[in-house]
Amino acid sequence: MAEQELNAKSKKTDIKSLTEEELEKILVESGEKKYRASQIYRWMHVELAACFDDMTNLPKSLRQKLEDNFEYTRLRCVDRQISKVDGTQKFLFALPDDNLVESVFMKYRFGNSICISSQVGCRMGCRFCASTLGGLERNLATSEMLEQIYEIRRITGEKISHVVVMGTGEPLDNYDNAVKFLRLLSGEGGMNLSQRSITLSTCGIVPRIYDLADEKFAINLALSLHAVTDAKRREIMPIAEKYSISEIMKAMKYYFDTTGRQVTFEYTLIRGVNDSIDDATGLSALARPLGALVNLIPVNPVKERGFVQTDAPAVASFKNKLENSGINVTIRREMGRDIDGACGQLRRRHLVKS
Ligand code: SAH
Repeated sequence: MAEQELNAKSKKTDIKSLTEEELEKILVESGEKKYRASQIYRWMHVELAACFDDMTNLPKSLRQKLEDNFEYTRLRCVDRQISKVDGTQKFLFALPDDNLVESVFMKYRFGNSICISSQVGCRMGCRFCASTLGGLERNLATSEMLEQIYEIRRITGEKISHVVVMGTGEPLDNYDNAVKFLRLLSGEGGMNLSQRSITLSTCGIVPRIYDLADEKFAINLALSLHAVTDAKRREIMPIAEKYSISEIMKAMKYYFDTTGRQVTFEYTLIRGVNDSIDDATGLSALARPLGALVNLIPVNPVKERGFVQTDAPAVASFKNKLENSGINVTIRREMGRDIDGACGQLRRRHLVKS
């Protein structure tokens, strides 16, 4: 009976988006033993099984039942570029519905890091960003976020020590799936990645920053600030029409106080737009009370956008100004510039071509 009920569902359940507890509940209700849930969960999230048939310690009848009742989400790699400069690898994946997303694999001294996308496209409209040019197509499922990491691990055979949710999309605009992703990725029965090694980047959706703080994760939160006055921020980031910098700062302070995790401000330097010494002074005034780390990013030129990078001497004086005010500053290394490095450019090139 329970099995018929399972079969009667028109849309199959996306098994890789379930927590182990959710999976257990469904399996037990359909007459299976409880321990099957942890076996299957392990196959999906630790062994990275390619399909149900690879789950060799399950009876064939159960594998068939899973096949009949669940969607086993996999991504198809349609393009892979490997940088000759620094070993960065960019992947373009087709989702089950043939939408495309990008993910990036980066080698650092401290380990390997993957940058994943959280949405197909984006509706935030930041003027300097290629990911938002075609608007938002849809949210990614939890399984589709996880599979970007799993598929890169299958393809490269490399170990992954860090994950950043900094690819295409605004993760806090896909809040529920993103939070579940963080839970599954860091959960003991799965990849068990330390939450301290996970960073989520947001353009500043204030209510969701409070919600995320209340989840009490130990993940790193990065804010895409990019301007220090509301007027200037509105010129380059439409989200600034909705939330003021002072509201965002309050939310970031709440995140810091609740989780104890240092926060980061990302600041993309655009020549003549936000790179004056006054901007640096404003930035240190915002960063100091929060003890925030500032990550300076030379803007990655996007063909459709007219922005130009701040030149090296101006970057250096901007950085000095911050450091002299006691702010910790890093300059983001430009990874894989020879391979459509900027956010959304690989996908964009494929979409424009087809
Ligand atoms: N929506 C999230 C995460 C995705 S964008 C956010 O806004 O943080 C990841 C980071 O890359 C953000 O800081 C974003 O502002 C920055 N970014 C986007 N396009 C860029 C470009 N052309 N050059 C440099 N940084 C860019």
